Amino acid sequence: MSEAPILKDTARSKGRDALQKNIQAALALAEAIRSTLGPKGLDKLLIDDDGRTLVTNDGVTVLETAKVEHPVAKMMISASSAQDRVAKDGTTSTVILAGEMLQNAWQLILQGIHPSTIARGFRKAEQFVLKSLEEISLKANDAMQKTVVKTSLAGKGHSSMQETIADISLRAVKMIVEGDDDIIDPTKIKLISQTGGRVEESSLIQGLMLPKKRISSEMQKDVSNGKILLIDGGLEQQGLKSDLKLNVTDTGVLESFRQQERIMLKSQVDKLVENGVNVLACKEGIDDGIRDYLVKNRIQAFRRVSRNDLNMLARACSATLVNSIKSSRSEDLGEFKSSKNISLDGKDFWVVEAAGKAATIIAKGSTVDIIGEVERCFDDSLGVSVQLIQDSDVVCGGGASYVALARKLRRYAETIPGREQLAVEAYADGIEVILRVLAENAGIDPISSLIDVVAEQTNLDSDNIGINLTTGKPGDMLELGVLEPSGIIKQAIIGATEVSISILRIDDVLWAKQDIDASLPPQSDM
Ligand code: ADP
Ligand code: MG
Repeated sequence: MSEAPILKDTARSKGRDALQKNIQAALALAEAIRSTLGPKGLDKLLIDDDGRTLVTNDGVTVLETAKVEHPVAKMMISASSAQDRVAKDGTTSTVILAGEMLQNAWQLILQGIHPSTIARGFRKAEQFVLKSLEEISLKANDAMQKTVVKTSLAGKGHSSMQETIADISLRAVKMIVEGDDDIIDPTKIKLISQTGGRVEESSLIQGLMLPKKRISSEMQKDVSNGKILLIDGGLEQQGLKSDLKLNVTDTGVLESFRQQERIMLKSQVDKLVENGVNVLACKEGIDDGIRDYLVKNRIQAFRRVSRNDLNMLARACSATLVNSIKSSRSEDLGEFKSSKNISLDGKDFWVVEAAGKAATIIAKGSTVDIIGEVERCFDDSLGVSVQLIQDSDVVCGGGASYVALARKLRRYAETIPGREQLAVEAYADGIEVILRVLAENAGIDPISSLIDVVAEQTNLDSDNIGINLTTGKPGDMLELGVLEPSGIIKQAIIGATEVSISILRIDDVLWAKQDIDASLPPQSDM
């Protein structure tokens, strides 16, 4: 039988050969970030095309920066990115888990078990594990919360940096919780970073703080309980349009033209006054010629405020962004409790407090590299804090929860008939990988660590025993303060299972032959 013409120019690998290659690609990727897992994980130095460097311990950052061609490796990376979006943490774990699940699946395939059988077994195992995860979860009290956020920063920066970041993140998230919100919106928190100073000097303020100064120091410094108008444009003279030709024969013509424009600007300010606007913020400029008129009318004004900041202001003050003053209606105005101009470390800031809650973190770091890592840490720990405030379920880290889940899963496997049982067991072996890698990265023997932890969990009938990476011995993670939101483990399990099953289902890979000419964009004759 001849091949379909569509397959003519393709390289093809089929069946077991395809699967083996795909699994190898997935394993290579997991291998690449394995050494970054956990508090003793090492950093990676990333260098981009332009020679810029980045030192990080963050799995998803490594993966997203790496140039990866293999489509299966790309599937793994997107699982890790999805984890980053949904849970903000556990990105390295997801990839390592998927790698291990696939490796174990491959052993079963070599024994003649069909990939679909394995996929079915994995699915059953996943369902069971997710149910058990709820059972082993604890409710975090206030004291435990900080511990949880600190755990999420393990391996990133030093301990006092973790303490500062965890503390600020939790307080920031608590500031933006509205009533009994189910969903907390972390975009209500603004992060400003400043080079210079130590991370420990980072601070948090209630309200929205923007690196802006009012356009005239003669304007009121602080305004309270007023109305704000946000313009997605400016308050500027239009100037002469480029396609307009003006034959100036009299020097007075140009001046009267400008005069006319100023009158128009003034009439716009008059409209602000009429509507009771106390504060004006524009995305674009505000004409210098109108400044004094704004001062006279007691309007505090800011120009060149970014779109993003205007949107944050709009949400905090319940205002609507308008295109121009002319088109503004009184219902577009927002309300604020206070609008203050402050100076911090010699820099000017505008701070707005309103009913819509907002918080601003001022992150500090001594160098551009450090501030970059500090920003990524805040990003992670804010994500974890949001999860934690939304759902206080936590489990023990340090491999404890994975080992506990694997123990329960093995008992469940005994109830499953046929070859799927082997797949469920392989899945149980797979999720223990986290403990082994944590140990390995701390220079502790991974196999005996696992054996010791399993034995201790069984002896004490406790799901809280994980590996103490300092002593190399089993330890109670609740006592050691190594806790993680259950949501992160849940997402990691779901993500890793999903990508493993997707990869197991592929039995045919068709590579289009790369044709240099074909990759050029088609020529258009204009
Ligand atoms: P991920 O990207 O998957 O979050 P991390 O490098 O952040 O990877 O490592 C997270 C793992 O490190 C979790 O399994 C967590 O339980 C473990 N961990 C964090 N702190 C400790 C600690 N002090 N002792 C043992 N394990 C820890
Ligand atoms: Mg982490």
